[in-house]
Amino acid sequence: MTVQPALSKSRYISGAQCRLRLWYDCYERDLAAPPDEALRAVFETGHEVGELACKRIPGGHLVAHDHRHIPEALEETRRVVAAGNAPALFEAAFRHRGVLVRADIVERLPGGGWRLTEVKSTTRLKELFVLDAAVQLWTLRGAGLDVREACVLTLDRDHVYDGRRHDLNALFRLHSVTERAEALLAAVGAGVRDMQAMLAAPAAPDIAPGGHCFDPYPCPYHAHCTRHIAPPDHGIDELPGLRKEDRDRLEAEGIREIRDIPEDFPLAPLQRIARRAVVEDRPVRHGDIAKTLARRSQPVRYLDFETFSPAVPRFAGTRPYDAVPFLFSVHTERADAPPDHEDYLHETDDDPRPALAERLIEALGCRGSICTWSGYERRVLRGLAAALPGRAGALRAIEARLFDLLPAVRDTVYHPEFRGSFSIKTVLPALVPGMSYADLPIADGQAAALGYVQALVAGDPEERRRLFDGLRAYCARDTLALAELCRSPALADNKGFATR
Ligand code: SF4
Repeated sequence: MTVQPALSKSRYISGAQCRLRLWYDCYERDLAAPPDEALRAVFETGHEVGELACKRIPGGHLVAHDHRHIPEALEETRRVVAAGNAPALFEAAFRHRGVLVRADIVERLPGGGWRLTEVKSTTRLKELFVLDAAVQLWTLRGAGLDVREACVLTLDRDHVYDGRRHDLNALFRLHSVTERAEALLAAVGAGVRDMQAMLAAPAAPDIAPGGHCFDPYPCPYHAHCTRHIAPPDHGIDELPGLRKEDRDRLEAEGIREIRDIPEDFPLAPLQRIARRAVVEDRPVRHGDIAKTLARRSQPVRYLDFETFSPAVPRFAGTRPYDAVPFLFSVHTERADAPPDHEDYLHETDDDPRPALAERLIEALGCRGSICTWSGYERRVLRGLAAALPGRAGALRAIEARLFDLLPAVRDTVYHPEFRGSFSIKTVLPALVPGMSYADLPIADGQAAALGYVQALVAGDPEERRRLFDGLRAYCARDTLALAELCRSPALADNKGFATR
């Protein structure tokens, strides 16, 4: 280990989370878990948003040399800044005291000096972004650039796309963080010195995994750091809604397992039920689910939507990250027979909502309860009604028939295998043995949204069909799961349950 690696803004943020994470980033990168599809999609969204953000400033100069050509990027940045004719630089490179920064945007201010802008694909300004800006401000000023403003550019949730062209000034919101970033400069300087001293040491720092491994981001070295630690059987993190202060208190007392929590430890009612289920190793019934389900009117249907949420709106009337439904599944109960199934998948890249709403209204008829899992379907229906005023009456009538099964189960039943989660993905295999999502190529909502976007751009018709089939199978499983759950002996009788 002869040459000390340069710090960058992302490495500084890693080091601020955990010095060991920074050490691994610099010296043992292979230990990191590879990014999953969801993380890769976040990166792609970041690129799309970053490119649009640069288009806000016509005539800006892109420093295109990549990370393998840093000397060239530094030289090009120096030359363009000195030439004085480009209104802005994108991906400009600066180095100061061993910290190398590629700034998203540096822009000349009319009165002299520069504005530094960090582009984020979120819609909210987070505290962490200010630290990100502060690291860059420290580096750029140290490198001799007269930076007078530090900003973070996010997407603006108030922007409604008109369906014709994007107004880039309305799509983005510029947050000035100059004072807040300046207040962090001394700490950044001290942090850089400390991190560099740590990286110059002969061995990695000795840091045990803990809550910091997921704050602010899940650490990609977690599997490596915890490889010798046996996971708890039913860890305290399985307590529903556990507050951080209670978690810290339990940890301070050396309690990792739910079953070791003392009887007199102050727990919320649902947490007490979860503790009892784990201690007695059997499900607990704490309410009358049959009575709740009997309130439904016939015919009983089960509904699920799949949605995708483009960062940059694609359809008229939508905002950044609005959820756009592209698929629904409906199962309808029949006496002494498997439930009927209907679905609709919008297979072209135009706005799915008008055609989907028509098919939905048809599939759901005018009578009977429509069961869902959580309030998500209600929100999607309201969005559809707002987007399609001509069908708003019919969609509101559907909304009035919704029956949310999640609170019905949460308020009456707890199984140790819920492991603190009331996701249908965990509730289903616990209460309907043999039924799960494990056999499906697409097995969660995030993968479904990604799969849909991939299918729309897939050049290979077979790949497209495979993805569409996977989406339909997943959505159908969601509604069949609800139907099977309601018919299951676990909800119908008390066998094997502790009751109170
Ligand atoms: S898993 Fe935790 S302890 Fe290990 S490097 Fe990451 S943050 Fe640090």
